[in-house]
Amino acid sequence: MTDQTVNSAAGGNGPELEQYDPSKDPKQKAKSGDPGWKYGYSHDMNRRDRIRCTFCGTDVHAGIARFKRHLAGASTKGKKNSIKCKKVPEAASKQM
Ligand SMILES: [Zn+2]
Repeated sequence: MTDQTVNSAAGGNGPELEQYDPSKDPKQKAKSGDPGWKYGYSHDMNRRDRIRCTFCGTDVHAGIARFKRHLAGASTKGKKNSIKCKKVPEAASKQM
């Protein structure tokens, strides 16, 4: 006798596989200890300079320094402005 609760309220095709979440995988973070890595992760092992923001999901393609500007919202003199994160909490932004 089994006491199994079938939880298929969504009416899907059986249980969904646990999705791999790179944002929770420590291997996807550089070991530089840079505070920027707390809020971003690389989702492509071959392209470490691509960092995805955990707040807004934007990909920043130019490395951790640019990514931190994304969080801090600082513009870069003489260069293309990085896109400021619209979802970063102020506390996190100030750490950058
Ligand atoms: Zn962002």
